[in-house]
Amino acid sequence: MNEMDKLESILPEWLETSRLQSADGTVATYIPELSKAPQDLLGIQIMDKSGRAVSAGDTDFSFTLQSISKVFTLILALMDHGEDAVFSKVGKEPTGDNFNSMMKLELIQPAIPFNPLINAGAIVVSSLIKGDTAEHKSARILEFFRELAANPELDYDLGVYHSESETGHLNRSMAYFLLDKGILQGKVEEVLDVYFRHCSVKVNCADLARMALVMANNGTDPLTGKSLIPKRYVQIAKSFMITCGMYNGSGEFAIGAGMPAKSGVSGGILTFVPGRFGIGVVGPALNPKGNSIAGVDLIERLSREFEWSLF
Ligand code: GLU
Repeated sequence: MNEMDKLESILPEWLETSRLQSADGTVATYIPELSKAPQDLLGIQIMDKSGRAVSAGDTDFSFTLQSISKVFTLILALMDHGEDAVFSKVGKEPTGDNFNSMMKLELIQPAIPFNPLINAGAIVVSSLIKGDTAEHKSARILEFFRELAANPELDYDLGVYHSESETGHLNRSMAYFLLDKGILQGKVEEVLDVYFRHCSVKVNCADLARMALVMANNGTDPLTGKSLIPKRYVQIAKSFMITCGMYNGSGEFAIGAGMPAKSGVSGGILTFVPGRFGIGVVGPALNPKGNSIAGVDLIERLSREFEWSLF
């Protein structure tokens, strides 16, 4: 039996076992609109390079990209400006602090955020996206996400966008701090608008799996043959995903699953097996590190069974 056939036969049962973990997790509430997601929801789709997809659970559920979007805005900023310009404004190291922490920014000179996947770093990256206006920048990002997901219908969840835009005081204060330090340039409210918008792009597991498949295939969509990301930038993004893609649970996930991954507070996880599979998962109940509790359980068990770890 090949791997996809085996996945097809075991996935529904394995998913139901992992789903039980959801009871021990917590759905994010700090963006009020996110708190509406069902606690015990879990879905997964795995896609191979021929386009064959295997899925189980609540794959119809739509959720927002949140932090997962940061991987792709980083890539777009790299495509817009190159490595030297981007990494003069944002660092390359894990922090050990929470994703929304400002703590270290005050202690380091210059106040360059540690990496592009924490909020401060991702806000700086949003300021680097080319475009004449905030609308133009957001339109370029959305178009890029649509191409990666091969889904021209991708759009914002305006409820989540407004909910975060109205309550994102911490992100707002971080952005003004970075303006004061000269790291952020331009109109802060416009930069924040670009940031909140790309976090609020609505996807399902199939969209995530397809985006992940492009990453798994070094930036080329294997189904269309179209090159969407230069290989070097996939390599950079992949390194960040391994070292800081799962918040402060990244080390644990590297040991448990050994796959590049990025999670978001909505409970989404985009992960992949390089050269082979793109995987999209959603499970809104989060563990104490902020990653989908049932999603992590399922990915780690699959990785062990199929020996997907890179290490
Ligand atoms: N939009 C969210 C925020 O800035 C993203 C956080 C996340 O998914 O980690 O708080």
